Amino acid sequence: AKQRGRNNVQFYTADLQARMSRLMELENALRTAIDRHELALHYQPQWALVGQRLTGFEVLLRWQHPVLGQVSPAEFIPVAESSGQIGQIGEWVLQQGVAQLARWRAQGFTSITLAINLSAAQFRRTDLATQVADLLLHHQVPPERLEMELTEGTAMEDPMQARQQLTSLHRLGVRLAIDDFGTGFSSLAQLRHFPVDTLKIDRSFVQDIDVDQGSADMVRSIIQMAHNLGISTLAEGVETARQLSLLERLECEAIQGYLWGRPLTCADAQKLLINQSKA
Ligand code: C2E
Ligand code: CA
Ligand code: CA
Ligand code: CA
Repeated sequence: AKQRGRNNVQFYTADLQARMSRLMELENALRTAIDRHELALHYQPQWALVGQRLTGFEVLLRWQHPVLGQVSPAEFIPVAESSGQIGQIGEWVLQQGVAQLARWRAQGFTSITLAINLSAAQFRRTDLATQVADLLLHHQVPPERLEMELTEGTAMEDPMQARQQLTSLHRLGVRLAIDDFGTGFSSLAQLRHFPVDTLKIDRSFVQDIDVDQGSADMVRSIIQMAHNLGISTLAEGVETARQLSLLERLECEAIQGYLWGRPLTCADAQKLLINQSKA
């Protein structure tokens, strides 16, 4: 037993070392990612269920490194958060996203909304609203064409601060969405004080609604609660027609998911816009 215990410690240490060196490798490589043009924005379609209409896209960051290959944002965003690089990266995403939205608007696609993810560190910055206002003005984009997503977890870290920040963004006229809703512990009472437009129901509930009554009940009550507060709902990660028809029955307003569209390159998103305008 003693021998095994020692081996376990060795395994654990080796594993920990591997993970540490991966983190340091990512942190170092991230430093030059923007300058070396390794980051790109992808665009996942968002659809209104009524009329099956394309309403816009969520911006999803992609990182293609020459040696490390494609690194998932689920892996590198937390690294950027803890190393302090997220400020620069988040700003870059906002700039690139709004600039692309302006180009699409110039091509006549003026009714779409672009949703951009905000990290916790970005959301804490006191100059965020000013930064966003300057950007919109510079690109002549009406504020209601931009939606900012923050996760339920970020919003609940410091609900008082969140309320202030959301209020200044809301005053600008940008749309606000709570991302990954259902995974945190926010109460109805807290949500009532947030000027949010959309609740994005987390994929973990959506993926089980057609097989698990508990998930279906959860989604039903989130939608009802949102509607009572005058908030609209979007279901994330919709992959099957059955999930879709259940969501329709529950009067969910919008969806996003592989069923109707994976994240697209900029060129493919543009093709979709052109096709939709002909339909
Ligand atoms: P998220 O904001 O919840 O984004 C949705 C994730 O679900 C995306 O993963 C998307 O590709 C994936 N997805 C969408 N539909 C489906 C589906 O039908 N099935 C499945 N299995 N997955 C689906 P992705 O692109 O890997 O991003 C992961 C997370 O990384 C995002 O989760 C978000 O938290 C973060 N992230 C991505 N881009 C940014 C960014 O620009 N800024 C910040 N702060 N975070 C970002
Ligand atoms: Ca999101
Ligand atoms: Ca989400
Ligand atoms: Ca998520």
